[in-house]
Formats: sequence, structure tokens, C-alpha cells
Amino acid sequence: MPEITVIGAGLAGSEAALSAAAQGVRVRLYEMRPRKMTPAHRTGDFAELVCSTSLGGEGEMQSKGMLQAELRSVGGTIVGTADRSRVPAGNALAVDRDAFSASVTEQVRRHPLITVVEEELERVPEGICVIASGPLTSDALAEDLARLTGSERLSFYDAAAPVLDASSIDMNVAWRAGRYDQSADYINCPFTKEEYLRFIGALETARTHTPHDWEKLEFFEGCMPIEEIARRGPDTPRFGPMSPKGLDDPRTGRWPYAVAQLRQEDAEGRMWSLVGFQTGLKWGDQKELVALIPGLEQAEIVRYGVMHRNTYLNAPEVLRETLQLKADPQKFVAGVLAGTEGYLESAATGWLAGLNAARLAQGLEPSAPPQSSMLGGLVHYLASANPKGFQPMNVNWALVPDPELPAGKRKWGKREKRPLMFRAGLQAFSTWAEAQGLVVTLPATAQPAAAQEKPAAIAHS
Ligand SMILES: Cc1cc2nc3c(=O)[nH]c(=O)nc-3n(C[C@H](O)[C@H](O)[C@H](O)COP(=O)(O)OP(=O)(O)OC[C@H]3O[C@@H](n4cnc5c(N)ncnc54)[C@H](O)[C@@H]3O)c2cc1C
Repeated sequence: MPEITVIGAGLAGSEAALSAAAQGVRVRLYEMRPRKMTPAHRTGDFAELVCSTSLGGEGEMQSKGMLQAELRSVGGTIVGTADRSRVPAGNALAVDRDAFSASVTEQVRRHPLITVVEEELERVPEGICVIASGPLTSDALAEDLARLTGSERLSFYDAAAPVLDASSIDMNVAWRAGRYDQSADYINCPFTKEEYLRFIGALETARTHTPHDWEKLEFFEGCMPIEEIARRGPDTPRFGPMSPKGLDDPRTGRWPYAVAQLRQEDAEGRMWSLVGFQTGLKWGDQKELVALIPGLEQAEIVRYGVMHRNTYLNAPEVLRETLQLKADPQKFVAGVLAGTEGYLESAATGWLAGLNAARLAQGLEPSAPPQSSMLGGLVHYLASANPKGFQPMNVNWALVPDPELPAGKRKWGKREKRPLMFRAGLQAFSTWAEAQGLVVTLPATAQPAAAQEKPAAIAHS
């Protein structure tokens, strides 16, 4: 019987081990806890939730809800266990932390095809392997990963700026241009003096997230948080990332007082990030600040800025959509290490990596779900995002293409389009999953969608 190795029994690794074993493949699962703890984990349990106990909002209006539905349809262990250990939390899927982890641990340990090895793995082993050692990967393994992928492609902290949904940017105010007309690669939001001073005032009083001691970072000049830059003087951002130089506002024909620039994040241009706005501010304060930027008053943030310790790979440079390393297709990466953010996203990529590792071990082609599904949209993003300054991503609606507009309609409202995207995506995901030989169970409420997407075959070497 073919065998694979999984490193890490966190959210991604536990799901990967069970997903591979469900395909009839033997799994050796290495977990270093409780012998060697990370700075964030408190127990030796598998799939420990290190902070909140929520796996995200539920239902057709929530991107996490869509991912939950896809994972439920193929019997995903993390989401199934969360359903059974849920606690009341409004429209969110929240769990009893201890009951949840204890149940995942038991399901992994009692599986006849999974052997748990309670050891730190210091090197990526030979053969087919899922690397799911998480944001706090042990130093020795991180060093070996850097050898495998190139050290410049492994990051040890996240200095991320907010990312926005392009369709929520007011292009009557913002405009596309590069400095001195070099290109039209950026979206520019122009400030008057009054608007700029109001923005800087709000930035000065905004509250920052308090990091744990082990999370504290030394800032380098190149990735100084915007609030830190503003602390050096109100004009400092205007002579730094908010410089208006070379940017003629088409409405005035002149350079504005200051500018906030946005750079395209994904290949399709549905997500844009604020250039030089990496920030450790609290999320509520980030939301208020972004709304003070002219043109972004109604902007929807799909990923908030963060400054924290985090080990992750530059996914677009090193990964395929199937979660295989380009440099060695026998190695799969899942969870935060693969450039995702969030418990549910970690479990989802773990599920896919486990499935694909098992397929490879059985001589079958690894494959990725269609882009219209939330998991397909996420892995497509990982493989095709802008590698410059790549930051881990959680699921959001901009990962999935909008449904086609009916004749005569100019724009979708989000309340209209999300249920359509949810149903079409779930349908496309189940068609793909069935083509992989998986048993799919759709909830009674999931209506067949009009549009179906053919799954893309992805080659591997
Ligand atoms: C402090 C902190 C708070 C977070 N809070 C949230 C939150 O509230 N909500 C949310 O959705 N996401 C949160 N995240 C982000 C992310 O969703 C979680 O970190 C999630 O646990 C990641 O899943 P994972 O499987 O990639 O890694 P993990 O769940 O961390 O699993 C990795 C496992 O690998 C093991 N390991 C590491 N190195 C080795 C080795 N060399 N050999 C063997 N085993 C090894 C670790 O012990 C661990 O069990 C947080 C992250 C951090 C760091």
C-alpha cells in the first residue's frame, strides 16, 4: 500500500492526514507537540485553535460559509467536527475549543491507516509529503524548507497592507496611472490638504493591536507600518508612500496634495492593496481610516493589514494550484505555510493537499477545483497572485468571478450576486469532486445552478 508523510497535526495537517487516509493511502503523521511546544499552542491536542474559536460566518452571504459548504459536501473532518462541537454564536460557526480538538485528535489517532509519530521533523523527508507545519514551523524545518525553495521565498513575518475589493472603489474619484505617465498600473486616490490632515489626525489616534512578546517585530525601513511613519511627523507619509509626485489628477490637471496608491493583487484585477500601508492597527480602526481616503469611502476590505510573526512561502513563486512545490512536485504544502490565512482555509488546503498527495501516490493526476468554487478560487490565487510583496490570504468574494450580467443589467448588488456565486460554485465544486471519484453529499437546500464549469485538468511532472 502506498505511504505518504504529513508534517504537523494542526488544522491543515490533521485534515490532510484524514483526507489521504480516506483514499486508502497509509500516512505517517509527525507532530512535535507536546514534546516541543510552539509559542502559541497550549496543549498536545491536534487541530488546536490558538486564538478565537470561530471558523467564520455561515450561509450563502459569507465567503467562509461557501467554503464550509464545499468541505461539508466532501465530508471534510474539520468542518464536520466543528458542526458537532458548535456553540451558539449568531451566524458564525464557533466551537467548544477543547471538545473540538479532542474529537479531531481521536479521529486521527484511531484511524487504522494513520501512524502518529510524536517527533519534530527537522528535514523534509524523501518521497511524497504534505508540509503543514504552520505559521510557527520549528526553526530546523524552516531552514530546510528555505534550502528547498530558496531562502528569499520563505518569510518569517507578515507585514501586510489592507486589500480591497476592486468593485467597491469609486473610480469617479480615483484614477489609473503610474508616476510621470510611466504606466497605468496603479489606482490613485487624491487628497486635498484638508482631507490629508483629517486622515493623518485619525491615523495618529488610531489604536494598534498589542502583540504577544514573541510576536514583537523589529521594523525595517522598507516595511515600516504607516502609523509608525506618521509618528515621525504629519508630512512624513506625504514625502513617503503618499507622495503625489508625477501624478496628474485628470480632474484638476495637477498633482494632488497627497495620494494613496493601490496595486493589483490578483491576475484578474479583482483585489487591490494599498501600497506602503502595512499596518498593525486594530481592524475597526483600519476600516474607519480607509473610509477617510477619497474614493474609498465605500471600499470593502477583503483582507486587513497585519504585522505579526508568521512563517509562509511566497506561494505564487513556489506553488502550483494543486499545492505541489514547483521545485519538487512530490512535496505538497498546506495551511498558513502555503500562504493562506485562517483556520478554515488551513483545513481546506490541507484537505486538497492530502487528496492530491494520495492521488499521486496511487499514480493519479493531482487536480485543483474549478475557480468558481471558493477553494478553487483560493488555490488559483495562491498560484497566480502578484509575487511582489505577496501576503497570506483568507477567502473572500473577490476570489470568485462574478456571475454573468443579464442583458440590460449594469452592475450586481452584493446581496443579489452572492447566493448565485455560492450555488454555482458549490455545484461546480461537486462536479469536480465527483470526477475525482469522491462521494459528494449536497445539502437539500443547494439548488442545481444554471451555469456549470468544467474542471480544469492540471498537469504534473
Ligand atoms: C497567534 C496566532 C493566532 C491566530 N488566531 C487565529 C484566529 O483567531 N482565527 C483564525 O482563523 N486564524 C488564526 N490564526 C491563523 C491560522 O489560522 C492558525 O495559525 C492555524 O492554526 C493555521 O493552521 P496550520 O495547520 O497551518 O498550522 P497549525 O495549526 O499551527 O499546525 C501546525 C502544526 O505543526 C506542528 N509543527 C511545527 N513544526 C513542526 C516540525 N518540525 N515537526 C513536527 N511538527 C511541527 C505544530 O506543533 C502544529 O501543531 C492565528 C495564528 C497565530 C500564529
